[in-house]
Amino acid sequence: MATEKNLKIYPSALKGLVWLKRAGFKLVLISNQSGVGRGFFTAQTVKKIHDRLQKIFTKRNARLDGFYFCPHLPDAGCKCRKPNPGLAEMAASQLHLDLKKSYVVGDQKRDLELAANIGARGVLVLTGAGKEALKGIGKNSHVSRDLFTAAKWIIENEK
Ligand SMILES: [Zn+2]
Repeated sequence: MATEKNLKIYPSALKGLVWLKRAGFKLVLISNQSGVGRGFFTAQTVKKIHDRLQKIFTKRNARLDGFYFCPHLPDAGCKCRKPNPGLAEMAASQLHLDLKKSYVVGDQKRDLELAANIGARGVLVLTGAGKEALKGIGKNSHVSRDLFTAAKWIIENEK
């Protein structure tokens, strides 16, 4: 089970966040945590993990601007579970983001679907579960090896 004690962060992911931050991007983490709705762990545990991540990110000059998660069951019909746009819209309103000028980077098909739902650009990374998501993604999505490669592509794409 995920706890705040056994987190592993890909070095390439950390580096990607640093580059994006330096390029002036706001950085937001959006995740589905249906384990909360299922009773596997509590929202408090998720928040502890976010705090721990933020501590590491801050120390490495990659402090995030926001952490958002959906605690609901997949069939709860909520508006915040990815690929639903609820959390991205909340982040946009709280942090004054233009979703149409944003990028969604993730390792799952629903991350790319979220991008499509909010008019953002989707980038699939092949770390994590990314390789399984490769089949069946739309041609509007960009594919990158990892978050660092994705960051470089995004920064280049903005020039
Ligand atoms: Zn939800």
